[in-house]
Amino acid sequence: MGWTDERVELLKKLWQDGLSASQIAKQLGGVTRNSVIGKVHRLGLSGRATPSKPQRTVFKAPRPTRPVTAKPSAPRRIAEPVAAAPARTPLYCVDESPGTATIITLGAHMCKWPIGDPSLDNFTFCGRRSEEGGPYCHEHSCVAYQPAQAKKKSSGAELARSLRRYI
Ligand SMILES: [Zn+2]
Repeated sequence: MGWTDERVELLKKLWQDGLSASQIAKQLGGVTRNSVIGKVHRLGLSGRATPSKPQRTVFKAPRPTRPVTAKPSAPRRIAEPVAAAPARTPLYCVDESPGTATIITLGAHMCKWPIGDPSLDNFTFCGRRSEEGGPYCHEHSCVAYQPAQAKKKSSGAELARSLRRYI
């Protein structure tokens, strides 16, 4: 059997409907699967099966955007260490500016907190009013009786004891 216009139209229709060459051969009758394939090529219809696969790969593309969500932990670390530092600054109530009294002018109720190096001319005593019954003003009492750190550094009580020789 040859290819009449009717049979060619039927072939085109069945091919576009997605039938295989052997199915089309059965439908048409009188032709082999191979002759159907040959006719399809000659008609330029052979590209039918290819479009479906490439289109599917396009749909997979959007997925890689998901992993972005996994970033939350970083900012939390910053707050903790910063808060601890300022609390440790020593309890010094006093800045060591030169005192108002010298060995000569130091009176009974004046703070005897030594300031500077006793061997130097600019050595002075605090000279502010001392606390009731104590040798130092309020601020220097605070420093003198502060445990640990303060004594290690300025050693106020010890220094005062050695100063009695001068006084
Ligand atoms: Zn003082």
